[in-house]
Amino acid sequence: MTPSLGAHLARELAALEGRQRYRHRHAVTGVHGVRIKIGGRRCINFCSNDYLGLAADPGVAEAMAAAARQTGSGSGASQLISGHNRAHAELEEQLADYLGRPRALLFATGFAANVGIIDALMGKADTIVADALNHASLIDGARLSGAAKRVYAHADSAAADAQLAEAGSGHRLLVTDSVFSMDGDLAPLPALMAAAARRDAWTMVDDAHGFGVLGGGRGACAAPSRSPESRVPSPDVYVATLGKSVGAAGAFVAGDEALIEYLIQRARTLIFSTAPPPAVAAAASAGLRRLQADQWRRDHLFDLIARFRRGCEQLGIVLDDSIRDLAHASPETRNPKPETFLTPIQPLVLGSDADALAASRALLERGYLVSAIRPPTVPEGTARLRVTLTAAHDAEQVDGLLTALADCVRRAETVA
Ligand code: PMP
Repeated sequence: MTPSLGAHLARELAALEGRQRYRHRHAVTGVHGVRIKIGGRRCINFCSNDYLGLAADPGVAEAMAAAARQTGSGSGASQLISGHNRAHAELEEQLADYLGRPRALLFATGFAANVGIIDALMGKADTIVADALNHASLIDGARLSGAAKRVYAHADSAAADAQLAEAGSGHRLLVTDSVFSMDGDLAPLPALMAAAARRDAWTMVDDAHGFGVLGGGRGACAAPSRSPESRVPSPDVYVATLGKSVGAAGAFVAGDEALIEYLIQRARTLIFSTAPPPAVAAAASAGLRRLQADQWRRDHLFDLIARFRRGCEQLGIVLDDSIRDLAHASPETRNPKPETFLTPIQPLVLGSDADALAASRALLERGYLVSAIRPPTVPEGTARLRVTLTAAHDAEQVDGLLTALADCVRRAETVA
């Protein structure tokens, strides 16, 4: 007899619990920031994507509140019906101007953007060439599109080139994260873009974790180039989110006129979905102005990243970047330069789920919130603590985390 849905799901949940894969949400009280209260406990938050500290910026919050007083709480409809407000249009213009691209288009979330864009652009006769560690939304967009998929070893531009060379006769789209969300390393964008150009492939970069932080704020594709070969040409499709460094919510794609107009006609996650509240767009506009004006936020963040990495080295905490590459590229062609890891995402790969969970719990006891990331989010055997640094942290907090990590990570290793 078929079990009831409830009985079936209860068994599945028990199995997750048994494999240490059960995940819990904890409600944060008050503002999302560095000092947070979560599940009634005060702690220092080291697992936020609010890289510039703008989610707790009073000016950004006030811009949102003022816009809500003028435009109400909801957009009321999808963009193509009556949900596209002046505040959305202004933000799109502001984003296009900032990036020096002809147009930008808002989506309600980064997940919706990636799924909708890939599904709109690619079809059954086409091929998507994708990094093995691309974000789930890029993977799901590729699945939904029905295109053939060729996955190359993580950050391996030679492997990407080979996959592009072998792709079928339809359109080819090379898709990659810029900063990988669970590893914090950078895709070798110049080499990938060169391979795509050689093979006549279109390019799409998801800069969710680079926009606002890298390239003086303009993102991974605008990183200052020391040599012609390290200059990144603009991808055909540039996606970034507004819920991370911008401190608001939502996402956008930037590109040429035809791309944006086509997506307005064809991206189902935009057409059949309510537009974000105009007040959210107003908050993103304010966040974008702040991130342009406040270079000090990026300078401070990069100081903290360097301090954290130096501290790990001094304390013998293994931030061995080659561990992160275990499941990844061939040693000859992967991108192991130290600057590849200078991003706010600094994971400590511990291996087993139990180790990662034990270390995360021990850190919480000491007042530091660092999430344990386990499969299927990361490959089997590479469970990790994912430390993220933000401009809202200070040196003392980073030093405190380092001391706690030195104890907790070792403790986790001894327990195992
Ligand atoms: N792309 C990447 C690389 C991400 O890490 C995320 C979310 N963490 C998304 C897309 C999805 O963005 P959003 O949270 O706005 O849905």
